[in-house]
Amino acid sequence: MAEAPELIVPSLRPYRSRGEISSWERDDSVVAFLEERLRNSRYAAVGEFHLYGDDADLPVPRRLVALAKQHQLVLHAHSDADAVERIFQQYPQARVLWAHSGFERPEAVAALLRKHKNLWADLAFRSEHGAAGQVPPQWRAVFEEFPERFMVGTDTFTPERWFYVNEHANWSRAWLATLPPPLAERIAWKNAEALFSGWKAGGAQ
Ligand SMILES: [Zn+2]
Repeated sequence: MAEAPELIVPSLRPYRSRGEISSWERDDSVVAFLEERLRNSRYAAVGEFHLYGDDADLPVPRRLVALAKQHQLVLHAHSDADAVERIFQQYPQARVLWAHSGFERPEAVAALLRKHKNLWADLAFRSEHGAAGQVPPQWRAVFEEFPERFMVGTDTFTPERWFYVNEHANWSRAWLATLPPPLAERIAWKNAEALFSGWKAGGAQ
């Protein structure tokens, strides 16, 4: 972020090692880790965190959500629809970025976007919405119904994923080019820019 503050928006992952993806929600030491990081650095979001179903109501995830509220962080949730719903029950004004659009079908994604106006969805590590460079009608319908809520994602959470960025960008340009330019621009970068514009302007934390 020091090298490219205009490009890099930091998100705090609640993990200190790879294996914690499936243990963090029952690990009290994660709370101390998050609190310490948030005391010492400025973040726009927390996540991705992996959370499913009623695990969202466990004490550690509840504390993560409370910290997101306290510091006005976007919650970048790799979750099923049930866990997303429980996050909104705990924190109705939450801003949630649904990682991978929950790996859900477009109709199911649309149902949750209709219910929660502070829900956005990224398209990281998915391909159906741009298979063979075309946007299938069911995805196009959802993109057009929610032009301000989707954003391209690359899932570059490990070094080896960076080899994938160019190929992913070219593939993304191909299917985005089949959409009306204003909508394509929104999904390509404007929606993400808008979601974090407040943070970039020095707001919150
Ligand atoms: Zn993920």
